[in-house]
Amino acid sequence: MFGVEAYVPALMEYIEKYQAELCFMQTLTKVDGASQTAWFKDGEGNISETQFDFLHVCPPQTAPDFIKASDLSDDAGWLDVDPESLQSKKYGNVWGVGDVMNTTNAKTMAAARKQAPVVAQNIVNAIAGSNERAAYGGYGSCPLTVERGKIVLAEFSYGGKVTPTFPSWLNEGTKPTSLAWFLKASMLPSIYWHGMLKGREWLANS
Ligand SMILES: Cc1cc2nc3c(=O)[nH]c(=O)nc-3n(C[C@H](O)[C@H](O)[C@H](O)COP(=O)(O)OP(=O)(O)OC[C@H]3O[C@@H](n4cnc5c(N)ncnc54)[C@H](O)[C@@H]3O)c2cc1C
Repeated sequence: MFGVEAYVPALMEYIEKYQAELCFMQTLTKVDGASQTAWFKDGEGNISETQFDFLHVCPPQTAPDFIKASDLSDDAGWLDVDPESLQSKKYGNVWGVGDVMNTTNAKTMAAARKQAPVVAQNIVNAIAGSNERAAYGGYGSCPLTVERGKIVLAEFSYGGKVTPTFPSWLNEGTKPTSLAWFLKASMLPSIYWHGMLKGREWLANS
């Protein structure tokens, strides 16, 4: 249901509440929008046909072709970097940030936000001839909207370690909360436009 166990109980409550049917390991192979029909292939290669009212499709994640085709990528096509320093494993003057890397964090803007200051610091250190390296811990955040007004704010680092920004008395991240909704709906747009995009990052040292 979700890669980090701590968040599964809250999500399963909503699966039951909405009486949703979970179908894992099914690959969407074809869609006919006019007849609202989708075809799925299971692990054994069997194809099934399903009618839909609303289809929300998330394509498989992949790096851009120019990275995949380059010497910078690993066998799977992702930018091959050290998971902590985010320095290319092949070229000392190349660094990575964001979804393109082969790091095992959740590919989120929240992760890129933590990665950018690490890379900036490491480039400054490299230019100064220092071998000291700041380290990225794998932080990523998935605001899981479970109902209008409530979000499960999943925050975790490498190894699925739960790493909440707020203390649990303020926001219990493994549960659906109104505060997480408020954060996502009312605070994050300003943080994104006026903070992140303008290079203001007060969490850089945390
Ligand atoms: C539906 C959805 C919801 C999400 N919700 C959240 C959320 O709530 N919180 C969160 O933290 N994250 C969320 N994310 C994830 C977040 O959007 C990504 O992690 C983030 O955008 C990654 O940033 P990036 O700069 O690494 O990559 P991108 O944003 O993908 O930027 C890469 C850019 O490179 C450009 N590009 C590609 N090839 C070339 C080329 N050859 N030449 C020039 N330019 C090129 C692309 O056009 C693109 O603009 C969500 C993602 C999706 C799809």
